[in-house]
Amino acid sequence: MSQSSFRILVLPGDGVGPEVMEQAVRILKHVEAQSDTHFDLEYALAGGCAIDAHGTPLLDETMERARASHAVLFGSVGGPKWEGLGFNLRPEIAILRLRKELNLFANLRPATLFTPLIDASTLKPEVIGGLDLMIVRECAGGLYFGEPRGIETLRNGDKRGFNTETYSTQEIERVGRVAFQLASDRRNQVCSVEKANVTESGLVWREVMSALHAREFPDVTLRHMYADNCAMQLVRAPRQFDVIVTGNMFGDILSDLASMLTGSLGMLPSATIGATKAELFNPAIYEPIHGSAPDIAGKGIANPMAQILSVAMMLRLSLGMPKQAAQVEQACIDALAAGARTPDLGGDFCTEQVGNAILAQLERLT
Ligand code: ATP
Ligand code: MG
Repeated sequence: MSQSSFRILVLPGDGVGPEVMEQAVRILKHVEAQSDTHFDLEYALAGGCAIDAHGTPLLDETMERARASHAVLFGSVGGPKWEGLGFNLRPEIAILRLRKELNLFANLRPATLFTPLIDASTLKPEVIGGLDLMIVRECAGGLYFGEPRGIETLRNGDKRGFNTETYSTQEIERVGRVAFQLASDRRNQVCSVEKANVTESGLVWREVMSALHAREFPDVTLRHMYADNCAMQLVRAPRQFDVIVTGNMFGDILSDLASMLTGSLGMLPSATIGATKAELFNPAIYEPIHGSAPDIAGKGIANPMAQILSVAMMLRLSLGMPKQAAQVEQACIDALAAGARTPDLGGDFCTEQVGNAILAQLERLT
């Protein structure tokens, strides 16, 4: 029997990044030991620590290693130490460059309510219980990158700032395919969100999504919704959604909104991908939504769940190991139910103790 092998580039980064990454790697090594798979883990510096060591947030050599990997497991970058060093010495450039040069265009942010955390939500249990939705945000185009853009000074001295939202058929189709494929492994529903009643880019978005649906994914249910209504519906009745797909700006806002329905920032993973299932092995980036949390860095109390759940997303989406992904997720739920909580969840566990608790649950499940 041949053993499959995956190259994974691990970039722990700054602040709490290395602390939560250490626990995520323990989980990954357990999965490796329990399966017929080898994980070839390579470590490199990215962000502030790379500025300190190499004078740049991301070495070209690290970029090359990312390209040659099956997946990148990213921690978090930045912190007060590196503020004000200049535009090209921002730690965040590390992640922006990785996304751009790996041609990643879809940011996936699940919002899942873990039953043991039902009291941590801002919504009532009867509204939020069982929530499991996935937001797919287009992250390479739209208002954030559209041309023309700029600031001009008018004759009377007033200023005028302007941006352009553009979306082409090809840009919409590629992110739409990701959404439909994700839905077909979930509850088979896609909600496509734009403002087709106000913008031309929204009109094209709606048209292209409808055509893609009819042509390639007729078995998935497609709904269209205006972004303002979607924001309202996410708070009113979030369980009506399975997969939401939307452009860069609306995705930014709606995914932050959705993520806070589920409790702590320390719980939320993300994936940034640039390929559909047909091209499974293109490198993608898996990282927690939270930042480097300088206020608690070095104290050993950061919640490692978001980083560990990012490992689960990587197993499912990039490595073709859905069973192991589900086991890691279940182990997190079971550890929470058994009381393993860091201070952000009102508990007194340290980072390593939560890692221990998840490993213990994983051992029971595998
Ligand atoms: P960024 O700009 O990098 O996204 P941010 O300004 O959004 O960073 P974070 O670093 O995410 O800030 O921290 C926001 C708050 O959440 C801080 O109080 C931090 O301590 C807390 N926090 C973030 N991550 C975790 C975690 N893994 N465990 C516990 N608390 C966390
Ligand atoms: Mg933030």
